Amino acid sequence: MPIRVFNTLGRRYEPFEPIQPGLVKMYVCGPTVQDVAHLGHARTYIAFDAIIRFLEYRGYRVFYVRNITDVGHLREETGEDRIIEGAGREKLQPMELVDKYMFAFFKDMEALGIRRPNIQPRASMHILDMIEFIKGLIEKGHAYVVDGNVYFDVSTFPDYGKLSGVKYEELIKHRIEPDPRKRNPADFALWKKAEKGYLLKWNSPWGEGFPGWHIECCVMAIKYLGEQIDIHGGGQDLILPHHENEIAQAEAYTGKKPFARYWLHTGYLTINGEKMSKSLGNFISIRDALKKYEADVLRLFILSAHYRSQIDYNEQSLSQAEENLRRIRDTLNQLYELVDEAEERGEVPGEIGEARKAFIRAMEDDFNTPGALAEIYRLTRSANSYIQSSSKHSKTALKAYYGAILELSQSIGLLQNYKPAKMKYPADAAKVLNILLEIREELRKRRLYELSDSIRDKLSEIGIIIEDTNKGPRVKFRK
Ligand code: AMP
Ligand code: ZN
Repeated sequence: MPIRVFNTLGRRYEPFEPIQPGLVKMYVCGPTVQDVAHLGHARTYIAFDAIIRFLEYRGYRVFYVRNITDVGHLREETGEDRIIEGAGREKLQPMELVDKYMFAFFKDMEALGIRRPNIQPRASMHILDMIEFIKGLIEKGHAYVVDGNVYFDVSTFPDYGKLSGVKYEELIKHRIEPDPRKRNPADFALWKKAEKGYLLKWNSPWGEGFPGWHIECCVMAIKYLGEQIDIHGGGQDLILPHHENEIAQAEAYTGKKPFARYWLHTGYLTINGEKMSKSLGNFISIRDALKKYEADVLRLFILSAHYRSQIDYNEQSLSQAEENLRRIRDTLNQLYELVDEAEERGEVPGEIGEARKAFIRAMEDDFNTPGALAEIYRLTRSANSYIQSSSKHSKTALKAYYGAILELSQSIGLLQNYKPAKMKYPADAAKVLNILLEIREELRKRRLYELSDSIRDKLSEIGIIIEDTNKGPRVKFRK
């Protein structure tokens, strides 16, 4: 079955066919590095990371570009550049602020186990490319100059609105540039004139100024991926105007349609039902979240929702993710422990192949991670019943369960650093543990539960978990 994706462009499911078979050229809008990254960013970049990893798992080569926005992204309410605003807040030079938060962002992405893009271009380092591009748009009659500003003439691009379905009246409402000298209120800025003393500006054929935010991504995507690309992604807040404008600029400039074959948009991460964002001040930084939860827990939480759905951050969902992760790990640890004593015989249990197929089917259906996770849980349960069903296990079966659970988890970026938890000094410690367990059994027979429970509790504190089954105590190790 081919992969099918929900394309925002056209709002329908389509079979996924990259321009060049086997290669996926992908661009995702990067962060505006004005402050520390928060869980909203983590949601979007983890969702795309799982998509990329899965595509790679299915044999595609993914060439991935994610930019750094360090100029030109203006705040809607005030029209102020977010970087200049941040620099003012922290009393730093704008590029000092950018360095600070760009490297912090790289660190966060690494800590979350997000695969590094092939290129992470910075907008401020591509001003010359943007100037050339804007010159081209003017020459082709798609842009015009008004007193040091350059505007895109929306009336020259009849396809405008094809991504978002926006209506003309609505478009006018959303424009940040209320310049009455524009030919049409819907036209948007490609280049903006900078006043004297403005901190982020460059020379251009139209005087000193700075680029518009939309031209940045368009120019960097074309520069590094070509005039037509396979996937363009971002959060759903970027559909209008950012991505709509990217399409207008790119297709007007190159004359080639579509600029991107598939437009993928992530739903919001919310907190108390509201979008997590810097401007609302309701954000939890990735850095702080990682102090409380490990990266795998955050990833499991985020992937438990489909990438297009909204997902609400709350303690309960995070605890659920912790619990689910613990179950998977416990099972892997037990499978690993049992291999040494298992017999050299047996076949791969049929449900492993079934689960792998169902997992792939779910992911191939518009990257349905909740459906894919359900298959991992199913496989884990089936491994557990195999562990419990007999006392003599087959090495083949144990290894097949272990391998499959790990393979599927890692194909969406989970358990990348998993190592089986074992006792540190197995030979002697195993003997000591057995003595303790025998004593505990004896205490239980004599109904001295207070003592037997205290042995169990103390062992649990050091990561040795005793579970009483009808075949006697079973031991699990946790880190
Ligand atoms: P920004 O730093 O605001 O330029 O955003 C960078 C990327 O993160 C964009 O693709 C946004 O759509 C995405 N993003 C920001 N906040 C959230 C959120 N609360 N939920 C999901 N994605 C978000
Ligand atoms: Zn962008």
